[in-house]
Amino acid sequence: MEKDINVDEQARSELIKRNVRGVPAFLIGDDIVVGFDPAKILKLVDHRLIECEKCRTKMRVPIDKGTLKVTCPNCKHTFEVTPR
Ligand SMILES: [Zn+2]
Repeated sequence: MEKDINVDEQARSELIKRNVRGVPAFLIGDDIVVGFDPAKILKLVDHRLIECEKCRTKMRVPIDKGTLKVTCPNCKHTFEVTPR
């Protein structure tokens, strides 16, 4: 049975009491979301992990924004992506 800890105070205190052990952990891209946090999960799935064409640095870009001009934080290479 799943409980939304954002609205269910009893479930939240239950998790705290259990020291948040045994709660589900989600791996989205390179991010680990521990526990049931729908807002954070939704935010993460709205983004796509891309790699710099030159140095393979990973960065996160929002999807559904059309073509984006991205500047790599590592090597400053600028390139365009259309994340979907
Ligand atoms: Zn780069």
